[in-house]
Amino acid sequence: MKTFWSNCIVSLEPYRPGEQPPIGQMIKLNTNENPYPPSPAVIDTLQRTANDSLRLYPDPEGKALKQTIADIYDLTQDNVFLGNGSDEVLAHTFFGLLKHELPILFPDVTYSFYPVYCSLYGIKYRTVPLDKDFQISVEDYAQPNGGIVLANPNAPTGSAISIEQLRRLIDHSQGSVVVVDEAYVDFGAESAIQLVKEFPNALVVQTLSKSRSLAGLRVGFAVGDTGLIEALNLVKNCFNSYPLGRLALAGAEAALRDKKYFEQTRQRIMKSRDLLAGELIALGFSVVPSKANFLFVRHGSRAASEIQQQLRHRKIVVRHFPQPRIIDFLRISIGTPEECTELVKALREILG
Ligand code: PMP
Repeated sequence: MKTFWSNCIVSLEPYRPGEQPPIGQMIKLNTNENPYPPSPAVIDTLQRTANDSLRLYPDPEGKALKQTIADIYDLTQDNVFLGNGSDEVLAHTFFGLLKHELPILFPDVTYSFYPVYCSLYGIKYRTVPLDKDFQISVEDYAQPNGGIVLANPNAPTGSAISIEQLRRLIDHSQGSVVVVDEAYVDFGAESAIQLVKEFPNALVVQTLSKSRSLAGLRVGFAVGDTGLIEALNLVKNCFNSYPLGRLALAGAEAALRDKKYFEQTRQRIMKSRDLLAGELIALGFSVVPSKANFLFVRHGSRAASEIQQQLRHRKIVVRHFPQPRIIDFLRISIGTPEECTELVKALREILG
C-alpha cells in the first residue's frame, strides 16, 4: 500500500547491494570486501573507544580524522569532507555539486549507484559508452556537461585510466566539477588527489571499505578545493550533523595510521588477483585487465548466470549484473589464496 508515500518516491528504483549471507556460511566474492581483517590497531582502538564517552555525541566535524587525512596528502582540514561510507559522500556530491541545467556525464558501464542518485535528486545525466574493450576514452567527455563522474578504477570492469588522462580531462572541463571515485585506487591505480591542489574543479572520493578492510565501519571521504568542500558541508549540515560515530572516527584514524598493514594486505590482494586472472584464462575466461580487488570475466561458451548459480550451489557467491552490455560477465572479488583455490576448483568442476 503506497497510500501514504510522497509522490516523488513512488517511481524510484533503488540501488541493489550484493547479498550479505550470514558470516561463515559462504565464500563471499560478491561485494568487493577485503578478505583480510582490519588492522589489529583498529580493533584495539575500537575496544578502547567503546567506553562511557559513547553517551556523548561525536565531533560533528570529525576534525582529528580530517587532520589525519590532510597530513597524508599535505592538505588542510578545509580540503577534506567525511561521510558515512563513500556512498553518502557521493550522495551529497550529486546533490550539492552536480544538479545543473546541463546533464552530467558518466560511462554507460559504471557504478550503478550513479543513476540512482540522479533519479533521487532529479539530476539530468547522459551516459558515455566505454569503448569495445570496456575502456574509458577521456576525449568522449569533451561535450557540454553539468559535471563528470568517473570511477577510477572503474567498476565493475576494474580498468583504470592514467593520471595524465585525468589531468587532461579535468583541465578541459574547467567549467564543471569532475568527480573521481577512487573506491578501488589502492589496488594498483594512481590517485588523482595530487590534482586537487592544481584544479578547483577536481573532487576525489575515497573509502576505507576496501583497501582498509572497514566496509562494516562505514567511512568515506572526499578531497578537493575548499569551495567544493564547503558545498558538501552545507548539504551534510542540512541532513545529519553527526554522520560518523565515535567508533568510526577513531577506527578510521587508526586504520590510516597503520601504513605497514595496509601495504601488506593490498600487496597480497594484488598478487592473488594476478594469479587468479591467469588461472581463469586457462579455464577459458576472458579477463578485463584489473587494477581493482575484483576481476570482470566472461566465459567463452557458458552463460554467466548459469556459472553464478552453479557456484552458489557450491557455496561461492559472485556478482552478475543483468544489464544488456554486461550480461555475459561475472564480477569476482579477490578472496584469500585459499578462497581463490576453492573458486578455481569449483569452476573446474562446473566447466568440466
Ligand atoms: N564507489 C564504488 C565504485 C563502489 O563500488 C562502492 C562500493 N559499492 C562505493 C563507491 C561505495 O563504498 P562505501 O560506501 O562502502 O564507501
